[in-house]
Amino acid sequence: MGAVVDLHLHTTVSDGRLTPTELIKLVAGKGLKVVSISDHDITDGLAEAYQAAKEFPDMRIIPGIELSTDIPGDEIHMLGYFISYEDDAFQTILSRFREGRLERGQAMVEKLAEHGLHVEWERVKEIAGEGSVGRPHIALALVEKGYFKEPKDAFAEYLGRNGLAYAEREKMTPEEGVQMLGRIGGVAVLAHPAQLADLDEKAGQLKAAGLVGMEVYYAQYSPETIDRLARVAENHGLIPCGGSDYHGLGNTGELLPGTMGPPMETVERLEEASRKIMQSAN
Ligand code: AMP
Ligand code: ZN
Ligand code: FE
Ligand code: FE
Repeated sequence: MGAVVDLHLHTTVSDGRLTPTELIKLVAGKGLKVVSISDHDITDGLAEAYQAAKEFPDMRIIPGIELSTDIPGDEIHMLGYFISYEDDAFQTILSRFREGRLERGQAMVEKLAEHGLHVEWERVKEIAGEGSVGRPHIALALVEKGYFKEPKDAFAEYLGRNGLAYAEREKMTPEEGVQMLGRIGGVAVLAHPAQLADLDEKAGQLKAAGLVGMEVYYAQYSPETIDRLARVAENHGLIPCGGSDYHGLGNTGELLPGTMGPPMETVERLEEASRKIMQSAN
């Protein structure tokens, strides 16, 4: 019994390893009916995805994005759905974030070298391709050099937020993320929130700032965690969302698209919320 909705997927335009076309073929083959491509700080995969989806007329793609935002001591990922992504001002901000990713990536490669792990920045950029450079690309370069067995192993000691080679970059606050999405008709959804300290309080604050949903049906979460998150969402009137967060990085135990997702009703509620945001933005 697979999911029919998967609202969290990555492609090669950010740190996923399948091209938009390959991903669309995969999710269609899994029987998914509604999917969202939600790459990090970039929407360049959408055009190709829509093109590839012409072959699968009963599958729908929701335009999405995943923004990294900052709070003291932690990071909050904010998903945006039903975004009018061709907006010029929006694209300008995204390009600036991607430039910040380049500087940050280079700084991390330098820090790795200080700790005796040598990868070429040029090689990291080659692995990343044209789009949004992220830590998984550095992890892949480290694996290629034989320092680690698989990409996720590079995070605990080096690439994770408290890792030895971590470097910061410019990010907005979650509230700014919600606003930025709202300006282009997007609905903001808190991504993989289980590990956040004071989730209940944060959910309330962000709801007041315009947050519409939060991830509940997230493939890597246990049934107990999903229950807990479903209650938080319900208490704050947030639409329960979710998906696989599929990257295709080759980590052991990586869950495929369609492993878990929200019910179809979630899509209808998100769309309704987007319509309201659009109306109040105009
Ligand atoms: P970045 O966009 O450069 O901040 O990298 C974020 C991405 O790195 C996430 O989407 C995950 O794919 C990956 N990532 C972050 N933290 C971890 C972790 N602890 N273990 C494995 N992958 C991680
Ligand atoms: Zn990622
Ligand atoms: Fe994320
Ligand atoms: Fe993600």
